[in-house]
Amino acid sequence: MSAAVITGLVMLTTTLPAHAQYPSALGTPTTYSAGKPLWGTLQNVPGMGATEFTYVGPTMGSTIEAYYASQHIGDLKAMAKKARVLLRQQLDERCGGDAKACKAMVAFDIDETLFNNYTYWANESPPFSLDDTNWTTYVENCEASVNGPIRAFYRLAKDKGVKVAVITGRPVTQTAITQDCLREKGINGWTDFTAKPVDDTASASVFKAQARKALEQKGYTILVSVGDQISDMAGGHLGGGIWLPNPIYFIP
Ligand SMILES: [Mg+2]
Repeated sequence: MSAAVITGLVMLTTTLPAHAQYPSALGTPTTYSAGKPLWGTLQNVPGMGATEFTYVGPTMGSTIEAYYASQHIGDLKAMAKKARVLLRQQLDERCGGDAKACKAMVAFDIDETLFNNYTYWANESPPFSLDDTNWTTYVENCEASVNGPIRAFYRLAKDKGVKVAVITGRPVTQTAITQDCLREKGINGWTDFTAKPVDDTASASVFKAQARKALEQKGYTILVSVGDQISDMAGGHLGGGIWLPNPIYFIP
């Protein structure tokens, strides 16, 4: 694997094999359970100890444009395939093949997971940077496109009798608009929907792990967590993680 360091961010220039496994340990071992297998492709992340939301900015714009034009959909398809294998393995190993018996569940993130916000980021000024006002307008107008292979996996999980949870870092104040947008994009039938309380100052990794823990305490067995951030699958309370490509931004 070769890596180029540009403006303090590391861009993996070679797609990692789909079976590569990553440790999920972030933070201290007492807070995060280590050793859950993750599968991923391309990321563009600052140091893993980063504590701030980070976006890549315009410097790498042409690289990102080329990635989305040529490789992104293929990576999504590869990860969706891996997700199907992982779900089948987890159903067998943890539920005896019976989704109902263990209240099997898969957790999905929204942004850069079910939704693809490339056009927002590419059209921002400067490109690949965040403007909170513009982003809010974009969300309210439901301008996202869908990551088709991930929506297909969402539907497949439901077809297998697996419950679906949506866990998003979007604020609870955007719950109604976000749920309407999901339905508009053909994504529906979730069993649980968790958005971030506006007064919750915890990191995404802590918030999402707590959300999964709360679901486990309701009796669900979370077999797979699907997201584009390591914070979608850090902190345990999952069988395995499907880490989707996001070369644009990082959320701790
Ligand atoms: Mg996301």
